[in-house]
Amino acid sequence: MMIRSVPEPRAREGEVVVKVRMCGICGSDLLFYEKGFGSLHRIMGHEFSGDIVSTGEGVEGWKVGDRVVIEPTQMCGKCAYCVKHHYNLCSSLKFTGIEMDGGFAEFVTVRAYQLHRVSDNVTYEEAALVEPMAVALHAVKRAGINPGDSVTVFGGGPIGLFVMQWARAAGAGRIFVSEISEFRIAAARKSADVVLNPEQDDVVRMITDQTDGLGPDVVFECTGANAAEVQSMTLARKGGRVIILGVPHQETKVPFGLFFKEITVTGAFAYASLLGSGEFATCLDFIGTGRIDTSMVPTTGISLEHIVSKGFECAMSSEKGKILVLP
Ligand SMILES: [Zn+2]
Ligand SMILES: [Zn+2]
Repeated sequence: MMIRSVPEPRAREGEVVVKVRMCGICGSDLLFYEKGFGSLHRIMGHEFSGDIVSTGEGVEGWKVGDRVVIEPTQMCGKCAYCVKHHYNLCSSLKFTGIEMDGGFAEFVTVRAYQLHRVSDNVTYEEAALVEPMAVALHAVKRAGINPGDSVTVFGGGPIGLFVMQWARAAGAGRIFVSEISEFRIAAARKSADVVLNPEQDDVVRMITDQTDGLGPDVVFECTGANAAEVQSMTLARKGGRVIILGVPHQETKVPFGLFFKEITVTGAFAYASLLGSGEFATCLDFIGTGRIDTSMVPTTGISLEHIVSKGFECAMSSEKGKILVLP
């Protein structure tokens, strides 16, 4: 990981150059940081908002000065998944900020179709939170929550906190959270009904007791930790749903109960709202109309020069909410 000077990017056909205002550090960035970036040598950062500073040939509907948030997925538009609008499953999916240079920089080049317009009543900070918020929305949509359903969320980081917000919006009944970091426990208490610490509490027994001895209808696994994955499948009630959206850190053994309890385990990966519809648009709409309160997710702003010391190293400790880099 290093900071270096690179030439200012130029917009080619179908592209725009965005001046980055804020770019969030994601849990997936931390996985790359921990493992080393290998041969990638890319500029990371896929959760960013900014202003358009130049447009390439053939770009219509966008002009210099427009405020935007970038949907980082780049898809082929032609494969079997793309033709069914499952862009997040595209056979040649790429992410700005992972396979392509991203938002931990002053300027970024993106395809025009990756842009979403940010209205004047939405701040750059709120817009930079749209990407993790869209991940959470995609997962809640896949859970098919019915009004009154009891919900458990493993993990009280930014994704878990946004899952709670969307679960509430979808009509969830009681929301339970399992989290070990004191900082995140305090944040989760503002959104959840019951917050437990698996290092002190028997999470499975206590949540089962508080859901009429049945377990919750829906469980969201947002940590990627092995123990939480197993607990998710052990905890869900008969016929319940488990949504896996934390990036798994390793392979997990499937508990026996999954079989006879007829539990449905569903993966939820990213979002698929390119071309102006779907999760990003819904997030921007809900923020703009005040139906989702982004302040439920604590944020800290840092400058680009401190991205390692105050960014990645702090984010690893889980004692911060979302860290936003201001280039
Ligand atoms: Zn992310
Ligand atoms: Zn495709």
